[in-house]
Amino acid sequence: MKESFALYAVILAAGAGSRIAPAAGGIPKQFLCLDGEPLYLVCARKFCSVAMIRGLVIAVPPGEVSRCERETESALLPLPWRVISGGATRQASVRNALEALTAWQPQANAVLIHDAARPFVSASLITAVADALKDGSQAVIPGIPVVDTIKEIQDGRVERTPPRAALRAIQTPQGFRLDILDQVHREGVRKGLAVTDDAALIEGCGHSVQVIDGERSNIKITNPEDLRLLAAAPKVQVRTGFGYDVHRYGQGRPLKLGGVPIPGAPEVVAHSDGDVLLHALADAILGAMGASDIGTLFPDTDPALEGIESGILLIEVLQKAREARLAVTHADCTIIAQIPKIAPHQPLIKKNLCHLLGLSPTAVSVKATTEERMGFTGKKKGIKAVAVVTAAMMG
Ligand code: MG
Repeated sequence: MKESFALYAVILAAGAGSRIAPAAGGIPKQFLCLDGEPLYLVCARKFCSVAMIRGLVIAVPPGEVSRCERETESALLPLPWRVISGGATRQASVRNALEALTAWQPQANAVLIHDAARPFVSASLITAVADALKDGSQAVIPGIPVVDTIKEIQDGRVERTPPRAALRAIQTPQGFRLDILDQVHREGVRKGLAVTDDAALIEGCGHSVQVIDGERSNIKITNPEDLRLLAAAPKVQVRTGFGYDVHRYGQGRPLKLGGVPIPGAPEVVAHSDGDVLLHALADAILGAMGASDIGTLFPDTDPALEGIESGILLIEVLQKAREARLAVTHADCTIIAQIPKIAPHQPLIKKNLCHLLGLSPTAVSVKATTEERMGFTGKKKGIKAVAVVTAAMMG
């Protein structure tokens, strides 16, 4: 029976980044952020998007393991992962990662090794390396043609000019059959070999290494001037959020909708002021943020929130949205009730929502409908509201 292809990825994020750290405020480069996420997690997410990969080992500096575990946990990666302690050198970190991988996933038989300082790696390059490995290569590395003329020098004088056409600048991810990589790492330790990439160990032990086309955009963040690549123009992401809320009619609080009192309407049962429209709207904004609901944020067991105006809750939610760099640009709301009649109050409700949200009348819609005497609203047992917001999330 043909052996199945069990591919895992190793993200190397254990370096001190000494060339770049002074310019980056002392932060090692793998912990710098791109689109709000540290580079090692940007890389991890790229590898997670490749279907052939079954899991990740992330090597970080020894003192950072538990912090990075917490950070990786909250990144909600879709593949299983382990954060492990790296070593003093890149080679030692790979060694640790291979030991951790074989102990964790004994069936692993292929591995991709990637430097966390290459956050721009594409899923197609990762796939190309993995494909070559799957097709039978023992070692696969991506390389790009060299544009500069390269000279070997000694004591400030040129020793040799190798022909440029035969040269390649080598990138990661590098892919290997796990047994061979494991074996050459052991041999490397025995022979005292010190190398800057894993392929060099393979070559040093006499195995062949396949080179495939790399990508010019797969840049390694190395020097202070590379920091500008991470500070590229802020990206704006369009977000949508949906909110839904219900309140029962009964002895409780005078009905308010969108912060507007509705005289003569049934009362609603609620811990806060029971403004079903503002609750739906607040939930829609929280939805656009990727956050939880207002019930979680403002529990109805909190005595401080007894009878609180929902406008205050909405302002707090908007403050949280601002902190998350989210700006609400449009809100579309529908109130669903048999009673009271909403139409007479609609202009004031809309005006109030525009004020609360800081939006123009063309960016806010307040609509109303009945449910044709069906269901709990039709039976006049309660009221509901739905809201959809559109928002811009600044990268
Ligand atoms: Mg509610």
